[in-house]
Amino acid sequence: MQQLKLIPKVDRVLEWEGVRRLLSEQPRELVLKAVRQVLDLLRAGARAGSLDDAAFAEQAVCTAVLRELRMLTRPSLRRVINGSGIVIHTNLGRSILPEAARDALNTIAFSYSNLEFDLDQGVRGSRYSHVEALLCELTGAEAAIVVNNNAAAVLLTLSAMAAGREAVVSRGELVEIGGSFRIPEVMRLSGVTLREVGTTNRTHPKDYQNAVNENTAVFLKVHCSNFAVLGFTKEVTAEEMVELGKQAGVPVLADMGSGNLVDLSGKLPCPEPTVQDFVRAGVDVITFSGDKLLGGPQAGIIVGKKPFIEAMKKHQLLRALRMDKLTLASLEATLALYRDEMVAFKEVPTLRMLTATLPELTGRARKIAGQLRRRTPDAVSFKLTDGFSQAGGGTLPLLNLPTMLIEVAVEGLSPNDIESRLRGMEIPVIGRISKNAFLLDPRTLQDDDLQDLAAALTALAG
Ligand SMILES: *Cc1c(COP(=O)(O)O)cnc(C)c1O
Repeated sequence: MQQLKLIPKVDRVLEWEGVRRLLSEQPRELVLKAVRQVLDLLRAGARAGSLDDAAFAEQAVCTAVLRELRMLTRPSLRRVINGSGIVIHTNLGRSILPEAARDALNTIAFSYSNLEFDLDQGVRGSRYSHVEALLCELTGAEAAIVVNNNAAAVLLTLSAMAAGREAVVSRGELVEIGGSFRIPEVMRLSGVTLREVGTTNRTHPKDYQNAVNENTAVFLKVHCSNFAVLGFTKEVTAEEMVELGKQAGVPVLADMGSGNLVDLSGKLPCPEPTVQDFVRAGVDVITFSGDKLLGGPQAGIIVGKKPFIEAMKKHQLLRALRMDKLTLASLEATLALYRDEMVAFKEVPTLRMLTATLPELTGRARKIAGQLRRRTPDAVSFKLTDGFSQAGGGTLPLLNLPTMLIEVAVEGLSPNDIESRLRGMEIPVIGRISKNAFLLDPRTLQDDDLQDLAAALTALAG
């Protein structure tokens, strides 16, 4: 309590040289806020008796104000190091973009562009035209359009094709995707009445047939992206639904969630249909995300038969769901890599990380652990241990990808301490705790991360 007397007045702190310098660089209000926060902390510390007298001296207070000001002025959206092994980590921004997208973003962000200008005719053009041909080339579809995200794609598709009428969907596919986005809710918002058929584990062709009436607008298939129904199950395939749709004169919609464009068989121990498969099967309209398996920016991609896509291009909702030029630029650059599947596997980080093999990851883990050992104090130790990574992003829920983990231990710190302190670093490091060990997965660590990771681990030991 004695220390309360040591707390300087705000006005006096503002006179100190170290703080006066800050006032010349930052708005006065912000500096004032930082000073007040530091003094509040000192008051709390004095009451708790948890501080040395030195903490109240000019030098220490100025340093604390500077630190506080840095916290107040740093961006809220920051880079983090993903050591979690979850490749499409929804909370960490899902996919990271391919290098090719960097150039496209740089050019389009800082220049005027032909976003809505037809350079051949010299008249107004459409922003949706820029990726349509490429999407058709890659998927075999007749037409395509892109919107802000896949939830928007589902909303637009249903609004354009089924508003005021009924959509038939299997009870086994009425999914919640995360962030409480639920297929049934989106359907209601688009003015579509849901006609649930089948049971959670089994839906048969005749269930769809029996549901058809004069109000039926579409058959909807939703890809089970974030869970799997195992055991005694029966799902109506895309091919079967197309056949049923033809018989009933009802178009078929598929929400594929994670839009995969490449053949993953032999690379991942779990089948994932491609968008091309569904187009070939005759599905009328397909929607998928740009930033899940595709590995591009957040986007909702819609491909399908021309009359349906044309109706969406004219729909009033489109304006509210449209994507911006930066997304378009990075999406076009990402999609272009898919012209050659080998290039896509090499250049698209999401695909590269997902298909990294255990021998590759073991080599990477050894190399990273070796370099970290050299660059960090002896109090930090590293050990390799095998484990699994995950695809994440509500994709491939059954997939456990074998990996080689780096277990990090720090003298005097528990795994929970390590986790929370690394999360609080200037460049936060996100790992995971399993069986009382703090783990980093080389699958999601980037080459550029190493130096900052070493710095963070060094700070931990200090
Ligand atoms: C992820 C997902 C969505 C939502 O996509 P966003 O791009 O996140 O809007 C919709 N449907 C399915 C099946 C999904 O997996």
